[in-house]
Amino acid sequence: MFLPYGRQSISEDDIRAVVDVLRGDYLTTGPAVGVFEDALAKSVGAKHAIACANGTAALHLASLALGLKPGDQVIVPSISFMATANGPRYVGAEIIFADVDPDTALITPAALEEAISRADPKRLKAVFVVHMGGNPVPMAAISKIARAHGLKIVEDACHALGTESNDGQAWQVGDCTYCDLAVFSFHPVKTITTGEGGAITTNDDRMARQMRLERSHGIERESAGFSNTGLGFDTDGEANPWYHELQTLGLNYRLTDFQAALGSSQLGRLPEFLERRRALTARYREAFAKLNSDTLRLVEAPAGSNSALHLMVALVDFDGIGISRAKFMNRLKEKGVGTQVHYIPIHRQPYYVEASASPELPGADRYYARCLSLPLYPDMKDSDVDTVVEALQAVAAG
Ligand SMILES: *Cc1c(COP(=O)(O)O)cnc(C)c1O
Repeated sequence: MFLPYGRQSISEDDIRAVVDVLRGDYLTTGPAVGVFEDALAKSVGAKHAIACANGTAALHLASLALGLKPGDQVIVPSISFMATANGPRYVGAEIIFADVDPDTALITPAALEEAISRADPKRLKAVFVVHMGGNPVPMAAISKIARAHGLKIVEDACHALGTESNDGQAWQVGDCTYCDLAVFSFHPVKTITTGEGGAITTNDDRMARQMRLERSHGIERESAGFSNTGLGFDTDGEANPWYHELQTLGLNYRLTDFQAALGSSQLGRLPEFLERRRALTARYREAFAKLNSDTLRLVEAPAGSNSALHLMVALVDFDGIGISRAKFMNRLKEKGVGTQVHYIPIHRQPYYVEASASPELPGADRYYARCLSLPLYPDMKDSDVDTVVEALQAVAAG
């Protein structure tokens, strides 16, 4: 028995949904993709959802839709998966890393202001924020600052499908109340999965159209969108049946139909997944409250939020316990408990040490020094939580 830090939950209905598509006519983009996109848009309360190959592709498409280009600057918090920075970097933007709250890993209004002060006001174009572990960034305050500087806003919501918050007004991650674009991943460890998969949600018609074009080579197939009328239409004005045109240098970032079918089936199970994550988290919190430890505590979700709880991050004072994180993790592993570190600060990654000005970000470093993600996924049993907490207690006692 080994408990990983996260894993997918696949039901017989999920399997049936995929198999049904495999027996049909479409393997790559067919009707199931549109069905999934509509269900996702409805679920998060956005006008459009554009499905694509993975969350990283979604970040790249978002960067293209914002029109980011070489020489532009983009602010990204240093604690996230690298792809948050790589998305805008693919289109040549320079990344300005922002610090985070040392106890939550979320970007704060003060950290955003500080990052803006290091940027060139003429070149700074956007900020990408991250709802780490599903816990929402204070978007009302963040968006107010960003908009005052004329910045576009992307929410990396790869951890946060199903997160709700209230900053004076109630909002939901993905509804784009406070951002231009929200980005999701459906990697197996995320809230719902399509194997590999991602999506962008937006209320902006123009950007939605552009991202659909860019994810499929940049090819327009609808006659209403043709720009070369001489090639596109017959002498009687009918569209030529073979005709399609390359309007921009796009990518092949499509999701397959069987992945989309899995996505729709999984999305139907989202309430069940969220409920299970909340129950397991409550059990962890109760057990940690009983431990009443100075050296072991859990990251808190912001007040007033209803987090999707993607990660169960403990903050461990390894120095206080007198053990290295590596030894701590290895001893937990011997007891059947898998853990992971989310994340190594991106500004410390060799590529970004080269490719960006390396600032001192004490909040990110302090979070990184203590964070340890514990097992949390819907198919975990209540007793598994007890196993993890007992193992932690034993390892911390030496
Ligand atoms: C998973 C993840 C991504 C990338 O998603 P992929 O689907 O793996 O490409 C980006 N940002 C964050 C915060 C993630 O957790």
